[in-house]
Amino acid sequence: MQANLDGLSPETPYSDGVKIVKVAVAVPLSRTFDYLPRGELKNYHPGCRVVVPFGRSTRIGVVTGTGNTTLVKSKLKAVTELLDPVPVLPADIVELITWAASYYHHPVGEAFATALPVQLRKGSSNEVQRPGAYVVTDAGKETAEVKRAPAQTALLRFIQQSVGAVSAAECRLFDNRWSTTIKPLIKKGLVEKIVADYRPGRAPVSITLNEEQRLASEKIHANIDKYYCALIDGITGSGKTEVYLDVARTVVKSGGQVLVLLPEIGLTPQLVSRFRNALACQVEVLHSGLNDTERMLAWHAAADGSAQVLIGTRSAVFTPMPRLEFIVVDEEHDGSLKQQDGFRYQARDLAMMRARKAAVPVVLGSATPSLESLHNASKGLIDTLYLRSRAAGAVLPKMALIDSRGGDVEQGLSNRLLLQMKQVLERGEQVMVFINRRGYAPVLMCETCTSIEDCSQCDAHMTVHANSGRLRCHHCGAERAIPLQCGSCEASTLINVGMGTERIDEYLSEKFPDNKVLRIDRDSTRRKGELQKHLAMAANGEAQILVGTQMLAKGHNFPLVTLVGILDADRGLFGADFRSVEQMGQLILQVAGRAGRAEKPGTVLVQSRNPEHELLQLLLSDGYSEFAKHLLAERELTAWPPYVYIALLRAESAEKAAASKFLGEIKNLIGSQLAQNSDLAEIKSQLSVLGPAHAPMERLAGRYRSQLLILSKDRKPLHTVLAWLRPTLEMHPSARKVRWSLDVDPYDML
Ligand code: ADP
Ligand code: ZN
Repeated sequence: MQANLDGLSPETPYSDGVKIVKVAVAVPLSRTFDYLPRGELKNYHPGCRVVVPFGRSTRIGVVTGTGNTTLVKSKLKAVTELLDPVPVLPADIVELITWAASYYHHPVGEAFATALPVQLRKGSSNEVQRPGAYVVTDAGKETAEVKRAPAQTALLRFIQQSVGAVSAAECRLFDNRWSTTIKPLIKKGLVEKIVADYRPGRAPVSITLNEEQRLASEKIHANIDKYYCALIDGITGSGKTEVYLDVARTVVKSGGQVLVLLPEIGLTPQLVSRFRNALACQVEVLHSGLNDTERMLAWHAAADGSAQVLIGTRSAVFTPMPRLEFIVVDEEHDGSLKQQDGFRYQARDLAMMRARKAAVPVVLGSATPSLESLHNASKGLIDTLYLRSRAAGAVLPKMALIDSRGGDVEQGLSNRLLLQMKQVLERGEQVMVFINRRGYAPVLMCETCTSIEDCSQCDAHMTVHANSGRLRCHHCGAERAIPLQCGSCEASTLINVGMGTERIDEYLSEKFPDNKVLRIDRDSTRRKGELQKHLAMAANGEAQILVGTQMLAKGHNFPLVTLVGILDADRGLFGADFRSVEQMGQLILQVAGRAGRAEKPGTVLVQSRNPEHELLQLLLSDGYSEFAKHLLAERELTAWPPYVYIALLRAESAEKAAASKFLGEIKNLIGSQLAQNSDLAEIKSQLSVLGPAHAPMERLAGRYRSQLLILSKDRKPLHTVLAWLRPTLEMHPSARKVRWSLDVDPYDML
């Protein structure tokens, strides 16, 4: 039955009951591959790597199991080499990856490849040399500054302020060029490398939790030895991290391990230090800034149990942890927890599945929870723990909406905002101006003929980058020099339309010549180490006006900021994506959360061209939870997630109609499969297939994109049809003419 739905013929016993090894190989096919064992079958444990013949070459794969049936009719080939006597992946991780591959309908071999550190994926030995770590010497303790070497001074201070020894990975998180910076520090006798394992510096530090934090912590403690999922719905600065730490302290004390997942942008050296300080144990980090060796070392430390805490981004969810007892997903609403290409998994959802399988508690934290989590909470699937006041006595900022359509707007900034900026700056406090658009201006237009400079490869305008004198496409990366004449009418009347961070920076620098303006966006922090430098200048008050994109929105703590201006709040109101409004609300509140983090109260001014918009007003007057309730009701009414389950089949091609044509064929195929197959009759009425439709931006990087949306009210019908569809697509002749991908629970519809 199942085999029929797969579109494949059923497996049959291999000759004379000979045993077979099932191997996941990283190729774009859903199935595993069958081999005869070399040596004894009993050595082939799931999670061991093998080299196998594949086509005309060999590949490295992961054993998923053994058996005696196969799809292959001819004689099987034998494994070339068994690489690991002991599995590199323990049974629970093999199970998690296999489950994830089947849930996301992604080729299992590619899923394993995503989960393994690069070196293991390439077949390197699974033995690692224990790395050194860095501590300050007695002379280093006494040194406040290294003359004329700001980078060395910063790194020295970082090591001074850290508890115990600092690993290479943590040095890198602080300073991307750390390996160059640290050499002179060692030479001057200020820092030394120790080869021993982690040496705790002092006892764990704890603070007294407030009432709400205590209740939250107690609730998690009460469920510490079973699966339990809690959403900590706590405003920014309410002390969510302290609750995680309080539970983690108990777990670490009893010898357990803690996994902390967070979006890339939330992982800062300050956060790692907080964990080290509070727990006084070995804390390892995993993130995209590490090189392959550092990644492997952190992975190993978690896998062999020596690291008691692992803090990492998305893919850290697959790291083996033999004594895992507690999982945290911080900023659980953040879209970057969902991988947007290749193996498109959602790390938060996998963390919940992992916790369930391991029978341990998992905590999701956010000031602006995702609608999915709020919905799960309302169904009673997860518990909600509220933190409603700011810890450390700080108060929430006051928020106000400003109409930015009228005449009293100068260069995108309203007079009211400029006036308040002046007052705040005179008091010696900081201002943050948020605009989610980098570059100088989003449009270069000819005043004579009104034509606009567009990207030749995308359906998009080119963004003006005045500092570098270039026009850039933010979608495909194409660039060219800023022209002097219009490309259509050749008049020299090109003007910049609209505002970007560069232009706001320029304007505010002129307007407030006595204050330093610091721009923080992807362009100004592109060079290694630049982001840390900028954030430090922002935090210590060296710059008084911070202009930035959403890079500024998350996690960072700028105690001197008392005024936040949000310039383009309403772009999300009319977004093409069903999540646009949710994301707009989350972004506004995350940005607002940067104001008044210390004793001084803050103000947030939200400029909008649609100040009368009901949702914007609701968000500002009643807060996120009312806003979210409204959005959930709307999603239910319009049948969007989390009230339905969806998968997106995307296709693209350089040829104009090819992708749509292909998806049309697939839609018909699904229709006839549903009509013909009596096993599917039952789910037929519950499924809808919408499209094919052009992607909201049809042409990207020279390819035309189209999509098919498959949805159903319950999870099961969708997955039944996808289980048939995926292998069908892999075999379909037309599928070779386009690029296609299947995205289950998609985030980005573009
Ligand atoms: P969140 O994670 O919710 O944004 P944090 O845990 O970072 O909040 O807390 C915000 C600030 O308040 C931090 O500086 C933290 O040390 C401090 N803080 C948190 N809880 C307490 C408490 N119970 N007593 C004193 N300070 C606290
Ligand atoms: Zn482009």
